[in-house]
Amino acid sequence: MQKKILVFKFGGASVKDADAVRNVAEILKRYPGRPLMVVVSAMGKTTNALEALVKAYTGDQRELQGLLSDVISFHLKIVAALFPDSSHPVYQDFLLKTAELSGLLSQPPGGNFDYEYDQIVGYGEQFSAMILSRYLSESGIQNTLFNAGELIVTDKRYRRAGVNWEKSIRQVKQQLLPFFEESLFQAVAVTQGFIARAEDGSHTTLGREGSDFSAAILAYILDAEELIIWKDVPGLYNADPRYFSDVRIIEKTSYKEALELSWYGAGIIHPDTIKPLQNKNIPLRILSFSDPSEQGTLICGEESTESRIPCYIHKDKQLLLSISTRDFSYVNEEKLHEIFGVFSRLGLTVNVMQNSAISFSVCMDDPGQKKEALFHELSGRFVIRYNENLTLITIRNYTQDILDHLAGRREVLLEHRSRYTCQLVVSG
Ligand code: ASP
Ligand code: MG
Repeated sequence: MQKKILVFKFGGASVKDADAVRNVAEILKRYPGRPLMVVVSAMGKTTNALEALVKAYTGDQRELQGLLSDVISFHLKIVAALFPDSSHPVYQDFLLKTAELSGLLSQPPGGNFDYEYDQIVGYGEQFSAMILSRYLSESGIQNTLFNAGELIVTDKRYRRAGVNWEKSIRQVKQQLLPFFEESLFQAVAVTQGFIARAEDGSHTTLGREGSDFSAAILAYILDAEELIIWKDVPGLYNADPRYFSDVRIIEKTSYKEALELSWYGAGIIHPDTIKPLQNKNIPLRILSFSDPSEQGTLICGEESTESRIPCYIHKDKQLLLSISTRDFSYVNEEKLHEIFGVFSRLGLTVNVMQNSAISFSVCMDDPGQKKEALFHELSGRFVIRYNENLTLITIRNYTQDILDHLAGRREVLLEHRSRYTCQLVVSG
């Protein structure tokens, strides 16, 4: 019987320079004979650089050429280190891709920023997948590069496109199943994370950090044995070591717990990743690309005792808004509807909320430039009070001791508890 496919996802840090790319090849060599689906993100911080490029393209174009040449030379340096022979076909590929991107940027931008963004930022993944695929071949790992735009079909919600599952299933099965089933040798497919296409052929993206989700979509459709996300950390920590002491790696946890943690903001995996895996009971493993023999974290359908260890998530730059009625009337459903209408129009992310008879409090990621519009829209009917620069600490599986210790001498402005989760909004 054909062996089941392993899906690997390599993020930006795992391909951030030539040595990192070489390390990816070494990791693949640890799985001889296994059919592998490799999903790769843009190299290092390329997506941020391309975001700056889109801003320049759609705004003041003075910096455009400089930003473009930075992106090109960053990649060219990696290519030059990996392929010392300057007649290698990778140079031709790279030239074509960069010419395509420059061509795009020489056209005047249209009025839809999100559309322009999606046509441009995906070049990061296109460069990285192309370079990785060529380098793997060079180091003896035969592989085929598939264009994610021909695998994953989405709607046209640019920058946060929704997957058209029916069409994506058809495309992936048509293109990838014969490749995996008919290969005489080890079948290795490489594709880009994060990017997809709408039915009209325009490029779309699945949202920042969306490559994890790309990998999960492919794992789901290919009925993979496992998805492995290769990270620069040895697994899922119960807390971010930058903010908490006494952190440890969770060896095994459930889909549910992992989803809750990532949704509350434990940045290690994109929250959308879990559902497709859970739906087909495909285990997710988080391993370290610098220490590939360490056991990492296993996320699967079983609850384990470790699913109940306390986990801490720290989110700073929080805004706490208290919204009350002007005339002592209740904050009822109709008023909540109005308030949420404003949040949704402005695309704000609410993290915690609490209501009383005549006031409603929400803690949200700082809305930045949208703050003025937010206050303006609400202050007609409501009295607004707010605190800025707060920290939201979420504790899964909390105990009273933990809460007392965490609050310490800090002022707790809002506390919200459910059976397993406590959220504290604290100053500083
Ligand atoms: N390169 C994209 C980003 O940085 C997607 C990803 O890394 O998952 O957001
Ligand atoms: Mg990235």
